[in-house]
Amino acid sequence: DQEQLNCAGCGVKLQQQDPAKLGYVPQKALEKEPVICQRCFRIKHYNEASGITLDQDDFLRLLGHIGSTKSLVVNIVDIFDFEGSMISGLPRFVGDNPIILVVNKIDLLPKVTNLNRIVNWVQRQAKQLGLKVVDVVLCSAKKNMGFDRVIASIGEHRDGRDVYVVGATNVGKSTLINRLISDFSDLESELTVSQYPGTTLDMVKIPLDDGHYVIDTPGIVYKHRLTELVAKRDLARIMPDKQLKPLVFQLDEKQTLFFGGLARFDFVRGAHQSFTIYLAGGLTVHRTKLDRADELYAGHLGELLAPPSKADAESLPPLVKHALHIPKGVKQDVLISGLGWIKLNSETGAELVVHAPKGVKVIAREALI
Ligand code: GDP
Repeated sequence: DQEQLNCAGCGVKLQQQDPAKLGYVPQKALEKEPVICQRCFRIKHYNEASGITLDQDDFLRLLGHIGSTKSLVVNIVDIFDFEGSMISGLPRFVGDNPIILVVNKIDLLPKVTNLNRIVNWVQRQAKQLGLKVVDVVLCSAKKNMGFDRVIASIGEHRDGRDVYVVGATNVGKSTLINRLISDFSDLESELTVSQYPGTTLDMVKIPLDDGHYVIDTPGIVYKHRLTELVAKRDLARIMPDKQLKPLVFQLDEKQTLFFGGLARFDFVRGAHQSFTIYLAGGLTVHRTKLDRADELYAGHLGELLAPPSKADAESLPPLVKHALHIPKGVKQDVLISGLGWIKLNSETGAELVVHAPKGVKVIAREALI
């Protein structure tokens, strides 16, 4: 109508378009006085402050000055989507502050996985991405694994500073924060929600015994993760909730694998070799000949090739091609952000084309396992 309204609670500009974004207010709440955003409403009435998300630009605008504070930054990433859940430009906005990289969801890795190798792998990847970290800790917030080490590492590197916990959405940040709160359970009642200095953004602050805080920040939404693009009801089918059961396929060149109807993997050229697929158990893999793949997709998307369902297929971005040249002599994975990865077991090299919904990050990397 007339002017832009602001929330009487936090001052943010009100909007009615996107419930996941700052300042969302349902129509009904507009009829009440004073008008507050849904987030303030929840904080006030349910003490429920997490769940808000920001895109990277808003995150940097609101939290970009962590670099000018003296703090410890705890960055939580997801081992199932390591590159997809890394925060881009993190070193720039944390300044000289130390970073602990907490790698969550390790319960998903197959039992035989050598965790020391995973730590080394993470350290190499972080270095390649220009991220200097003081520690890498593997954990599972869900299975309560490695949590003592997270606490110990924070204790060791905190040095009387505030602790900022940052992460992309769905990495398990809330689960971990809740663990952190219950670990300091006598402090539960003192949990405070307060405005981050200089902004209209409220933060959950967990008080520490020296007058400093652990500060939870909003999850950053990355549209390059398939988890952000699929319909809500399909999320559970692409996000694994138990240990991964890798599937091995022996393929000849000119063969194709479909992962539901969400992505397609063409082995275009190379010697006969085996590929190991790391995906959520809820997804079915279909194998076909490369020259039949277009037809199969056109005729069976939303049926044989599901998810997405027929109804949801239309709202998913169209598949686009990523040509990947895998050189000889290195063990590589192909990561489809949010969906999983394909390990090439041979070191003979391969020419691949991966089809994924437009925007989804597809990369080749040093093999994780
Ligand atoms: P947030 O968006 O980062 O706050 O993430 P949540 O804590 O809401 O978790 C997102 C999803 O990941 C939920 O479905 C959790 O059950 C799941 N999750 C969180 N931690 C773990 C973990 O350690 N292992 C596994 N397998 N899943 C986890």
